[in-house]
Amino acid sequence: MAQNALKPDIAFARKLQEAGGDSLKKCYQCATCAVACPLAPAGAPYPRKEMVWASWGLGDKLRSDVDIWLCHNCGNCSDLCPRGANPADVMSAARTVVYQDLVEPKKVGELMASPKGLKWLIGIPAALWAFIWVIMAVCAGGFFPRAEDGSIVFGKIFYGDYTIDPIFMITFFAAVILIIRGAMKLWKSFQPEGKLLVIGKKRPWWHCAWDVLWEEIIFASRFDECEDGPKTGKAAPGRRVSHTVLVWAFCILAFVTAVVALGHWGGKIFPMIEIHTPMRQTFPVKILANIGALMLVIGLGMLTARRLMLNKKTQRSSWSDWYLLGVIWTVAVTGIFSQIFRLADCVHLAFLVYYLHLVAVWMLFAYLPWSKLAHAVYRFTALLYVRMYGRSK
Ligand code: SF4
Ligand code: SF4
Repeated sequence: MAQNALKPDIAFARKLQEAGGDSLKKCYQCATCAVACPLAPAGAPYPRKEMVWASWGLGDKLRSDVDIWLCHNCGNCSDLCPRGANPADVMSAARTVVYQDLVEPKKVGELMASPKGLKWLIGIPAALWAFIWVIMAVCAGGFFPRAEDGSIVFGKIFYGDYTIDPIFMITFFAAVILIIRGAMKLWKSFQPEGKLLVIGKKRPWWHCAWDVLWEEIIFASRFDECEDGPKTGKAAPGRRVSHTVLVWAFCILAFVTAVVALGHWGGKIFPMIEIHTPMRQTFPVKILANIGALMLVIGLGMLTARRLMLNKKTQRSSWSDWYLLGVIWTVAVTGIFSQIFRLADCVHLAFLVYYLHLVAVWMLFAYLPWSKLAHAVYRFTALLYVRMYGRSK
């Protein structure tokens, strides 16, 4: 007689606990959480089944589970769980373990998983930009050179054409390729479940993609359906506003970067579109960049305040949450202060802070596929998938 044996994935279970899902053993399967979740549809409830799979160490089930990506981490289920098993944290931990293990080299995901890996994550770009600084300082005749007119120009050391542009372009496009591979892998893993979950008519992907982009990403409207529960983060700033401000800030800064790159490289062929850096403070692209930077700081401030105000009994922030917030804060603060020190003519501080800025920006781009930022792409993939297969959420 054939026997179906459960095969617990011990490594997955261990990673899940380390990522913040250590309370799952308290679960006694009452299913209150699945009823409490404002987002789970009646025909495909969660997070109870995820709690069962997590307790049994069924990593494969969780890896191919589309529902872990649909959870918006509102904490309602944790608020109402009678056992304090914190299902919201378990769902969040499951997502973290899955995306950190999704693409090669998986070693980077391991380094991202705990503070122990931080020295390597910082050390690599710190050594890279220090090496460039030393080489260029030898060529420029000093570590803190000035332009002919006495002004501070970062390009005297971190020359755009031969250092910043090629390094960031290669890093960024490599990260994008890896994220696309990760999203495709995830899509493929959903498929057996997806066929079972068809509730309505299958819809064309472009309709669904537009709906998801508009409703879920640009205006984050799902957060209104998934308000914070009775205890979790009651007094914290609204997540919808902070997420929307951050998404728009990223869009503005990405647009500005693209325009400057086009003006710089395109200007070599069509001089009329050439953009010189550093730009004047009154130049429209610079004004837009400053608006984007301000929005970034406001959005980050709101998100950080929310994380600090969470009710720790029912919802915690993981290392991955703080890592991403820390890197983006460093990018924003060093970007703003390198500009302030440059305008204030503090040459040493300006170059040092700009160096830190380059280290942080490289970390943001290079480790993107294993960071919580890529999680937005993977969530988009899952939302697209369920909509295509007939679910509205
Ligand atoms: S996580 Fe809590 S609410 Fe959900 S099934 Fe387990 S004990 Fe019940
Ligand atoms: S955290 Fe919110 S969205 Fe996620 S499973 Fe719990 S109740 Fe549902």
